[in-house]
Amino acid sequence: MEDNYRHKGMRQRLIGELRRKGIKNEAVLRAFWEVPRHWFLDKAFADLAYEDNAFPIECDQTISQPYTVARMTELLEVEKRHKVLEIGTGSGYQAAILAALGAQVYTIERQKVLYEKTKAILARIGFSRIRCYYRDGSSGLPGSAPFDRIIVTAAAPRVPEILVNQLREGGKMVIPVGEDIQHMMRITRLADGSTKTERFGQYRFVPFVEGLGEG
Ligand code: SAH
Repeated sequence: MEDNYRHKGMRQRLIGELRRKGIKNEAVLRAFWEVPRHWFLDKAFADLAYEDNAFPIECDQTISQPYTVARMTELLEVEKRHKVLEIGTGSGYQAAILAALGAQVYTIERQKVLYEKTKAILARIGFSRIRCYYRDGSSGLPGSAPFDRIIVTAAAPRVPEILVNQLREGGKMVIPVGEDIQHMMRITRLADGSTKTERFGQYRFVPFVEGLGEG
């Protein structure tokens, strides 16, 4: 896959924009540099890959806005070798950013077309270590739990208890919660089994849907 000086220039500009918008975590910004976002969109849209916008992908879904990916990743406080579960593989871009940070990534997608296409792209661009699953993310991934971190990239009407229970003690989950507009929430699972909830501004995501996709 090509990554030429134009792509690199546009990517550098995008990273500058993310800094101006308040992203401070240098490891996260480095991951944005290391993962060419245009590889996750059809070739015709390569230039648009470096605008700070969400973009439509297959199955009526979207690749999240770069700022949103950066902010969620920053809030997740990922460390090297963390076991991270992502619900909503979509284009695979968020999963690749997590892998670039050194995480061991498990990602679940309910749309078969997306699951297949993205799994192939990730393997082609050197991210075959990301484990992709075609499943309903509502039940998480009990066989691989507990996770250090869980990130949900679709809007859930409420915090899914099943996912909280798949966090290890001290583990954190970042998830947009709400119907029309979502609040970004960070849930930390504490030692006594209770949770701490923090909120970080408003976002708009495609919905978290229970069950497998039709396609
Ligand atoms: N992280 C993605 C964002 C994709 S949009 C990226 O970087 O491109 C959200 C994705 O969540 C969609 O692909 C949608 O199909 C998926 N999704 C929604 N509900 C789901 C569920 N219950 N289980 C698994 N995936 C789900």
